[in-house]
Amino acid sequence: MIWSNWARSQRAEPREVLSPATVDDVRRSIARVRERGGTIRPLGSGHSFSAAARPDDAQLRVDAMRGLVAHDAERGRVTALAGTTIRELSALLADRGLALDNLGDIDRQSIAGAISTGTHGTGILHRSIGASVVAATLVTAAGAVVRVSETEQPELLDAVRLGLGVLGVLVDVTLQCVPAFALEAIEATVDLDAVLDDWMGLLERTDHFEFYWFAGTELAVTKSNSRVEGPLEPRSAIGRFLDERVLTDVGHRALLTVGALLPSASRALNQVAARGMARGRFVEPSHSVFVAERAVRFRELEYGIPVEALPDAMRELTAALRRADLTPTFPFEMRATAADSALLSTARGRDTAYIAAHRWWREDPRPLFELVEPILLAHDGRPHWGKHHSLRAPQLAELVPGFAEFLDVRNRLDPERVFASEWTRRVLGD
Ligand SMILES: Cc1cc2nc3c(=O)[nH]c(=O)nc-3n(C[C@H](O)[C@H](O)[C@H](O)COP(=O)(O)OP(=O)(O)OC[C@H]3O[C@@H](n4cnc5c(N)ncnc54)[C@H](O)[C@@H]3O)c2cc1C
Repeated sequence: MIWSNWARSQRAEPREVLSPATVDDVRRSIARVRERGGTIRPLGSGHSFSAAARPDDAQLRVDAMRGLVAHDAERGRVTALAGTTIRELSALLADRGLALDNLGDIDRQSIAGAISTGTHGTGILHRSIGASVVAATLVTAAGAVVRVSETEQPELLDAVRLGLGVLGVLVDVTLQCVPAFALEAIEATVDLDAVLDDWMGLLERTDHFEFYWFAGTELAVTKSNSRVEGPLEPRSAIGRFLDERVLTDVGHRALLTVGALLPSASRALNQVAARGMARGRFVEPSHSVFVAERAVRFRELEYGIPVEALPDAMRELTAALRRADLTPTFPFEMRATAADSALLSTARGRDTAYIAAHRWWREDPRPLFELVEPILLAHDGRPHWGKHHSLRAPQLAELVPGFAEFLDVRNRLDPERVFASEWTRRVLGD
């Protein structure tokens, strides 16, 4: 059976597909593949753009392991099985008056897959999803069931918080949650320069700030999400449908098709898109404000850079695109998060701004990514592990401060490289 990821940028024909439902199943599955000298890649929901989940040999799917197995009401912690999607998790948390502190743009990922590549949202005082992992259970290549927490092998926690599926198979993760909260969302189309001039102020004044920029325009679409106590003022069902299905899905697809057929129209199309994207104001539960539907497939490259560097990096980027006469009809997305401690995190030890370049999946992303990547690298950029980038292990060892320490943990937990693939050899080495 042919497997491909969401973006259709990775394909594989696994020699074997394993779908364990219990810890013992996981142990048996690993033992069987190991006995025949094979390799395994765990698969979450297949939403990584990179080949992080692409198997060379056996694929181990965790989607039979879903739901909550524990709830510590006093400390606001839950333990979720690895394959629970963020969408399912958010609903289960809402039933208990809880929420995750921060989320990315979508909720289709499994919780294990999301943390394993460093999935993040935005908010300068808020960290990536993996930072809320306070404990985890994983099955190693040797079949050992390892419990990692603040009190059990705590030295492994910052490796497991972003483990790339090379340390073992995560069976469950315990997450520190926060009381459920509402967000007031304000979306507006403004001048790009105004956003760049006030970047740090906007981050400091807004709990969760991000903006999009459409190439070939001077316009930014800002999304300012603030935590509020007040009553909900949700979008109507029809408003939501128009937003998510008509404007962002059908409308966006139409713009992309015209842009691909008629590149000279891209600038004008982007003007229209930038003015049509902002959705005004609404107040909804955090989960429904953070995430959106992404019905149009795309490819993405994203780097984390020091937070103060974003305005300069953006100005260089806009100038370089102008010089190259390159006008992708898919917006750039800019976000920021607080520093965290995961060994491989883009935000390890520094508050981080993110710049993401997207290209419609039917167009070749390489000219765009090849133009953007050196600019972000020159700003001390670190690539997102779940997205496209061109770097190999030696460069990553220079850029990622916890790289050597992570490799030590990997050597300890998987010395025989049962969880290896062509991709892991490229980004981590043999
Ligand atoms: C439309 C779209 C929007 C996105 N938005 C964001 C965003 O806002 N912010 C952001 O940071 N990223 C975003 N991403 C990237 C995405 O969040 C990550 O790539 C994430 O890792 C995908 O989760 P998944 O469950 O699909 O994992 P997969 O892609 O299936 O796997 C990812 C990694 O996790 C490992 N893994 C999976 N399950 C286990 C397990 N049980 N044990 C051990 N390892 C495991 C895999 O081996 C692989 O290395 C987006 C992706 C898409 C397609």
